[in-house]
Amino acid sequence: MGWSDFLGNAPVRDLMRRSLAEGRLPSSLLFAGIAGVGKGTLAHFLSKAANCQKHEDDFCDDCGSCRKIEQRVHPDVRSYAPDGAFIKIDQMRDLIREVFFKPFEGRRRVFVIDQAHRLRLEAANAILKTLEEPPETSILILVTDAPNDLPGTLRSRCQRIQFYPFSPAELESILRPRSIHPAQDLPLVGRISRGSLGRALNLDLQQYREARGEMLEAIRACAGALSYHRALRITEPLASPRQKGQFEFKTGVLYDLLRDLMLIQLGAPGDNLTNIDLRSELSEIGSALTFGQIVDAVGSLDRLMKGLGRNLNKSLALDRFLFRLSGVGATPPT
Ligand SMILES: [Zn+2]
Repeated sequence: MGWSDFLGNAPVRDLMRRSLAEGRLPSSLLFAGIAGVGKGTLAHFLSKAANCQKHEDDFCDDCGSCRKIEQRVHPDVRSYAPDGAFIKIDQMRDLIREVFFKPFEGRRRVFVIDQAHRLRLEAANAILKTLEEPPETSILILVTDAPNDLPGTLRSRCQRIQFYPFSPAELESILRPRSIHPAQDLPLVGRISRGSLGRALNLDLQQYREARGEMLEAIRACAGALSYHRALRITEPLASPRQKGQFEFKTGVLYDLLRDLMLIQLGAPGDNLTNIDLRSELSEIGSALTFGQIVDAVGSLDRLMKGLGRNLNKSLALDRFLFRLSGVGATPPT
């Protein structure tokens, strides 16, 4: 193992490697990007490279230091994650105390704050001064997939390092030799993972296909003559509290299907579709819908998804969505 084993985001990896080797790595970093693109892994690599006993600008994964970091027992490498829903002020007090110690065994102390957007405001305020003037022997890395949820005061004190999503082709080439998914499904997996390697590795393709079949059936019903009620019967159970986790997942699947229908009507090349294996089926369903119906439905689903964090009435929101997609009369005001 070494820097070369890092998957994706090569410019970011090279920048970190070079900056560390040349002694000009900023001490306060903000790793930002969607989940599953390697932010935590790169922080881990950086901890090893900063402390490896065999290499100056790489790491061996074999020396005492690398092994301790791998086992999460190195005294100079610490990580903080939410304790419950938030990262608490006591955790950050611990960091402030620790950060000024000289390294015990290694060359640099590394402090990783995972899911930094979950810092409570008081905890975030507590580390502002430390982020502004960290000791030279310590590196602080804030990791987040929601950088805009961090207070501006925190963001402005860190050097932001942006991680980019993987392209479907990149995901396919990484997955192919690993045989996690059947080879013929890789184009689909590469697309529904939305640029996240983490998601692609953990994807349950069968579960995805079942959910997709259900959502497709609902769209088909809406596209038929006045069968909005049939669509409602399919989607109604989604609003039940027992389907809490499923709601977000299935509305996401629905969203991708509608986006594909829109792309087909716009005449976009087949490669651009998410559900690349359903092109002819989607073309057939889409021919029974007008472009306006699809656009209206996407808009309504947008509002529904934005409302998920709030106290959304799911039944009502789904009802509105199906109404729009069916193009039946006027919809209730939103
Ligand atoms: Zn080593």
